[in-house]
Amino acid sequence: MKGKNNIDKFKCEQNIYACIKESPLVRLMMNALKSSGCEIDIRRHIACEECSPTVSGGYDPVLNQIVVCQNTATNKGLIQGVLTHEMIHMFDYCRNELDFKNIDHLACTEIRAANLTHCSFLSACFQGDASLFNIKEAHQNCVKTKAYQSIIAVRDVTKTDAIDAIERVFTRCYNDLEPIGRRIKRSSRDIHKAYSEGYLFGYD
Ligand SMILES: [Zn+2]
Repeated sequence: MKGKNNIDKFKCEQNIYACIKESPLVRLMMNALKSSGCEIDIRRHIACEECSPTVSGGYDPVLNQIVVCQNTATNKGLIQGVLTHEMIHMFDYCRNELDFKNIDHLACTEIRAANLTHCSFLSACFQGDASLFNIKEAHQNCVKTKAYQSIIAVRDVTKTDAIDAIERVFTRCYNDLEPIGRRIKRSSRDIHKAYSEGYLFGYD
């Protein structure tokens, strides 16, 4: 068991280094953190750990550390998903006085993470064969569902409290596209590349 643990950790760390080297989206988030004064030190701020089988990663605001679950996030695509998602939380924690015990704050950062990472990869699938309106609806539903799942997975809150919090902050947080949105305008080709590569990586 101990041996398997070490192998998992080694593979996890190799995948993280590869993602940081190859993924434009991960690099973009790292640059955004750096220019906000919260530069990531890979050795200190990212850790591979064994987690429960339903979780693939997390962010610990006390240690300001991203946890990648070495037993569940076992390929580059999943790890890219975990890194970018958790880096959004890290960015929000750096940028604002984010209080993870406040459910509205938590809902907001989960909405942003879903919007800017998970559901953006997904939206690439919809393009072309759905009307604009449907894309928007599907995308918003994706964000709400994913944010809900994230809140329920990490915090001891009731379903109603989670849904109410998401509805309270949705419009404001859904429209807050920092740091990725601002950069989409500036270099849309890179971002398009980032998202399409993310999709090819198999992040779901
Ligand atoms: Zn999250």
